[in-house]
Amino acid sequence: MPGEEKLPIRGMAGYLRPEDAAQLEAAYRFSEAAHRGQFRISGEPYISHPLAVAGILAEWRLDAQTLCAALLHDVMEDTSVPKRQIIDLFGQPVADLVDGVSKLDRIEFQTKEDAQAENFRKMLLAMASDVRVILIKLADRLHNMRTLDAMYPAKRKRIAKETLEIYAQIANRMGLNSIYQELEDLSFKHLYPLRYRVLNKAIKAARGNRRKVVDKILENIVQKLKEAGIDAQTTGREKHLYSIYRKMVEKQLSFSEVQDIYGFRVVVKDIPTCYHALGVLHSLYKPIHGKFKDYIALPKSNGYQSLHTSLFGPYGTPIEIQIRTAEMHKIAESGVASHWLYKSSESNLNEMQRKTHQWLQSLLESLGESTDSVEFLEHLKVDLFPDEIYVFTPKGKILVLPKGATPVDFAYSVHTDIGSRCLSVRINGELKPLRTHLRNGDTVEILTAPYAKPNPNWLEYVITGKAKTHIRHYLKTMQYEQSAQLGERLLNQAFAALKIPSESIDDGKWERLLRNTGAKSRQDILTDIGLGRRLGIVVAKRLLSGEGASQEEKPAPLVIRGSEGMAVEFAKCCYPIPGDDILGVIKKEQGLTIHTHDCSYVRKSRVDPAKCLDVEWDSDITRQFDVSIRLEVRNQRGVLAKVAAEIAAAGSNIENISMEGEGSYTNINFTLQVSNRVHLAQVMRALRRIPDVSKIIRVKS
Ligand code: MN
Repeated sequence: MPGEEKLPIRGMAGYLRPEDAAQLEAAYRFSEAAHRGQFRISGEPYISHPLAVAGILAEWRLDAQTLCAALLHDVMEDTSVPKRQIIDLFGQPVADLVDGVSKLDRIEFQTKEDAQAENFRKMLLAMASDVRVILIKLADRLHNMRTLDAMYPAKRKRIAKETLEIYAQIANRMGLNSIYQELEDLSFKHLYPLRYRVLNKAIKAARGNRRKVVDKILENIVQKLKEAGIDAQTTGREKHLYSIYRKMVEKQLSFSEVQDIYGFRVVVKDIPTCYHALGVLHSLYKPIHGKFKDYIALPKSNGYQSLHTSLFGPYGTPIEIQIRTAEMHKIAESGVASHWLYKSSESNLNEMQRKTHQWLQSLLESLGESTDSVEFLEHLKVDLFPDEIYVFTPKGKILVLPKGATPVDFAYSVHTDIGSRCLSVRINGELKPLRTHLRNGDTVEILTAPYAKPNPNWLEYVITGKAKTHIRHYLKTMQYEQSAQLGERLLNQAFAALKIPSESIDDGKWERLLRNTGAKSRQDILTDIGLGRRLGIVVAKRLLSGEGASQEEKPAPLVIRGSEGMAVEFAKCCYPIPGDDILGVIKKEQGLTIHTHDCSYVRKSRVDPAKCLDVEWDSDITRQFDVSIRLEVRNQRGVLAKVAAEIAAAGSNIENISMEGEGSYTNINFTLQVSNRVHLAQVMRALRRIPDVSKIIRVKS
């Protein structure tokens, strides 16, 4: 019958509900069609790979969504099927899983340092917000490792190394014991083919030789338990090849010195029987001191439970024994899978999430500790690392930053010089604003320029202490230098007013002044003047200390060039611009502020005349200044656009806009940038020509 062809997916997951099985078949058909015409290096049709991956996940009895996503896991990357289509056909959760796996595929582990491997593992876990993404990725990697022989040798080694350092470790920590061991052995085989062959042969031979001993021990254990009336499943347990190799390397042992390649596992019906069995076995062989661990009374943080003990076997062979119930055994063996059973219901998801989160937290804390512990995982969407993000430098190094960090934080964490010379940023190859929040897996490239300088605005969005400290330090130093320059000009102005040539002030006079004032340096005194802590005229007089001080004249005005930097501020109340009559006010710690003569703030606050300074504009100033104007406009559609267009046409920039008022008229406040009064007049004239503008004034308060 048409449509009844035998699908390879059928029967793979017999535990699924019929409607879920139907969806799985649909996913298979879709994936098969998308991959049609593609082949693996081995020559097989490509679909064989996603099918095998789904098969591995079905062995772990994972849910229908995971299996569907496994079948579809390469369609977005390899056949450019859009995510939208997967959402429409298979729903959001499946599409999210496929997307998650695709994201992991895009990042590649490049560096050789161990510490970086740790960060890379964390990055992978952090990127996979759903634990099932990691499970699919592990199954994907497992199948690729099983079929690695078809690959070119160089690529084989790279993939094997990545598997050993990254994926096997993740499997280990997730409690996927058999996957972990298989990944390690396969990696070892491809990384060190010769060592693998030799060791494999040696182990086979040894097993042959020791078989009699092992069989004898097993027989004794079974017999003894039976005599005690304990119903138990007892099995021999062999350590996997790579763990034997690791032990040889770490402890510098030859193969014949690695004794404990044998262990036994006793599975019984309930907890009291575990302890009963333990007592029986301790009476069979003498226990080795200090090797007994009770993980039943004190489960591991992940919930793993068993009794562990080591005994002196016959001929001095150490025997490791694990005793547990069938339930504990299921958890220990398949980790995640046993708790991620298809039947888990929606209602206890939140409890599951909480537990998973807890488990992952403890997993993170234990990262770094060497552990062969069996861990298990319940499931689902969690933010594994709520406070951290992991990003790449262009060379593939991984940096850990706090969540919310920006490219500027990144730049400072690479190097202070990169931070201070930071100009712009490329994130994953695209130019982005410096205030962008970085995300897990981003590759961040900072563009620098020798002339670039830290910007005070950065302080609004950087979040790392290092960036903040360096930016603040830079700004302080800048202010100090610029204030000293202003101070020198103010002092020279005072000399001029006193009709004293500044050359007549020699070093001796300066030293006397420093002694008398307790200041550290001439620079400090000048900064003090610039910051308004000392008055120029007073310092000048003290320098002269009476000698030749002629009649004091009104000092000539100080020329404002607009390039004094942070030492001179233009008041935000009246926004003075070149052409305005201006007045300088020296404020302690803040240096000189320039106001317009008719500024209502200055008039009202009655500034101490000694703190007021006569200033005038330099004749050629090129920079632009902020100025504030208010427009009253009729409420017409598009009036704001007309106004903005006229402002632009008059060569001015809008820095800020605010609006108020209702009814038929609206007040619009603009902060504009203009060169001087003439320029401002041009702008205002142009605005007056707009019929909807009824009133226009410059704001000076
Ligand atoms: Mn794949």
